[in-house]
Amino acid sequence: MTPATDPSPPVLELTGISRTYGAGPTALTVLRDVELTVREGEYVAVVGPSGSGKSTLLNLMGALDRASDGSVRLAGHDLASYSDAGLSRLRATYLGFVFQQFFLLDRQTALENVADGLLYQGVRRAERRRRAAAALERVGLAHRLDHVPSRMSGGECQRTAIARAVVHAPRVLLADEPTGNLDSASGAAVLELFDELHATGATIILVTHDPGIAERAPRMITLRDGRIVDDLCREVAA
Ligand code: ADP
Repeated sequence: MTPATDPSPPVLELTGISRTYGAGPTALTVLRDVELTVREGEYVAVVGPSGSGKSTLLNLMGALDRASDGSVRLAGHDLASYSDAGLSRLRATYLGFVFQQFFLLDRQTALENVADGLLYQGVRRAERRRRAAAALERVGLAHRLDHVPSRMSGGECQRTAIARAVVHAPRVLLADEPTGNLDSASGAAVLELFDELHATGATIILVTHDPGIAERAPRMITLRDGRIVDDLCREVAA
């Protein structure tokens, strides 16, 4: 008899999640009864039409927002029991974020922007710069360390933002429409980079309205009107 392999431990566990904006007659419930477990090493795409609640869900998983009902556990921590300052620390420890906008500081070089991703970790400056250089090398930008964002292409800026998001080795990388501001070639390069990060063990959750992008992830969750209507795992061509 072959022993069953243990599944990887969960990094995000959402139970009975709902999110309502406002109160009274104008209250708008944009997520309802969401149950979702994401395990270490998974690459999950969250797809659905505009307004279906994808960004709201990502913000809850990223401890950027609080659920109206239900619980979110990140690496075993129940987010409801944390103050706003505590949530900031959890984010800095466990999470990396990539958004459609790059949010890079233009008066800093790529190296300095990425090194800032370690400011919360209490890492000394020389070590921050060493790790930032390694992260930029990992995203194919070893030749751009001293460039400021205005001297780089959109694709290079997004790869710099990804290096900043992963420089502290987060447990989960959360990406919200990361190719939304890029031409198709740069977007494809960013998605290849996600594939590579996943292949080396990263846990990735990617929000996109584009089914073509979602299709490359091994697991695809579909949201409609704030509910998970589909949760599909499949083989993805290597
Ligand atoms: P998606 O990412 O799928 O486009 P969102 O999560 O951004 O969807 O939004 C879902 C719904 O919640 C939309 O109807 C949007 O207008 C509404 N919404 C999002 N944020 C807020 C907010 N801060 N206040 C009120 N309504 C909001």
